[in-house]
Amino acid sequence: MNDKIRLRFAPSPTGALHIGGVRTALYNYLFTQKMGGTLILRIEDTDQTRYVAGAEDYILESLRWLGIEFDEGPGIGGDFGPYRQSERKALYGKYAQQLVDSGHAYYAFDTEEELTAVRTDFESRKETFRYDGVTRKGLKNSLTLDEAEVRQRLESGASYTIRLKVPRDEDIKINDIVRGEVVFSSNELDDKVMLKGDGMPTYHLANIVDDHLMEISHVVRGEEWLPSTAHHVLLYRFFGWEDSMPQFAHLPLILRPDGKGKLSKRDGDKLGIPVFPISWEAEKAEDSFKGFREFGFMPQAVLNFLAFLGWNPGTEQEIFSLEELSAAFTLDRIGKAGARFDYDKANWFNQQYLIQSDNDHLGQLLKPMANLAGYTATDAYLTAVAGLMKERVNTLPEILETGYYFFEPIREYEEKMIRKKWKPERTEQLLLLNEELEKSDTYTTETLEATTKAFLESNGLGFGDVFPFYRIALSGTTKGPGLFEMMEVIGKEEVKKRLTVAFPY
Ligand code: GLU
Repeated sequence: MNDKIRLRFAPSPTGALHIGGVRTALYNYLFTQKMGGTLILRIEDTDQTRYVAGAEDYILESLRWLGIEFDEGPGIGGDFGPYRQSERKALYGKYAQQLVDSGHAYYAFDTEEELTAVRTDFESRKETFRYDGVTRKGLKNSLTLDEAEVRQRLESGASYTIRLKVPRDEDIKINDIVRGEVVFSSNELDDKVMLKGDGMPTYHLANIVDDHLMEISHVVRGEEWLPSTAHHVLLYRFFGWEDSMPQFAHLPLILRPDGKGKLSKRDGDKLGIPVFPISWEAEKAEDSFKGFREFGFMPQAVLNFLAFLGWNPGTEQEIFSLEELSAAFTLDRIGKAGARFDYDKANWFNQQYLIQSDNDHLGQLLKPMANLAGYTATDAYLTAVAGLMKERVNTLPEILETGYYFFEPIREYEEKMIRKKWKPERTEQLLLLNEELEKSDTYTTETLEATTKAFLESNGLGFGDVFPFYRIALSGTTKGPGLFEMMEVIGKEEVKKRLTVAFPY
């Protein structure tokens, strides 16, 4: 246990957790595990206008499904709580005040309408408005209004925000673990709002105050937060917390499967692939979607796939359990370049996990799906089907889709093949062979195979003369598991039935 290593995953409950957010959670988890540190879940819900009911539950359920566990957080406890920012509301005001008192922040009294007017004015000149060290001089704030007026406004209860006073002409340096030194010019930064009109802190203030109070040692988060880090570094300095400032590691973007641009929910819809961990039920059907779980992925495969989206172990090994990932993970092997979301690779990982999995276990996982499809099958039957099919599919539901014929009559026969190769005398040969096979007491792969071989030899026939037709009669297709294995699972009675259907005599 290393109590100096404390990381947090700090999602905002503004909707479903995108797969990129899951990767952030995973990397935080892996690094904490590796270092024997503490992982904290902090819900950043101070922006009430963006709050979405059900989003927090969604986040928790997704992480639970994947097996990413926290040491501290809402519902878990810990010495640094509460862990939901809305429950810490009372705490932030004094920090905003501290910034004002030390001259690093100021009151801004501009109304929404006034700011909109300024913005429109800038736009009409093809410029973009930014509340910053230049424009603040012409706006209504405690730096431009005289002291008496400021006091009067505050006392009269007028609405105001507190803005960070970003200094001019300064290079702000960040030493990012992934990117190395990143320099921002302070002249490019706006005077960000710290405390809003409703007394709630913004993300920036709450995030820094909480990272400090929760003694966070490393901030591992998505690249989209890199520009904000310049403001965050200023905040650490203004609060006098620079010595204990966390180390930053900004994770690369996740790119669309074609590598062009950032992966979005729309790409998921367009390509019919999951980009979220689990399903999301929205009021409007078009806003609902299925996740990796509903597409039939196993959580271990998703974790393994995500681990490689931006990180690699530097070896050839690709299949890692969560424990192995934790042992192998280091922040310095995270790449800078965007990581392409390769769905084929996700499928490959899932297939590897299917193949590795015990057939009984897979049978159990298939059970609810089979029930849902209206199939009745014993546990042993499901286990056997899983064993035969797992190397031929990418996901579990595909076993029931591709291997539907294990559970219901054949929907369609591969006619082309039959027409090409069929000879009328085959019917008789097939039925004779089947008679032989039925005679055997043990209807197992081994005996079926031995009997068939003997039959073919004594009749001067080759495998190709009967096999394809036998397969088509049993499964409708020439693809699929081994013929004898399939026969053993389907059973003598059903095989006979299917032959009769395919070759009426
Ligand atoms: N609440 C932010 C988010 O939704 C957290 C960013 C951070 O980790 O600082 O991603």
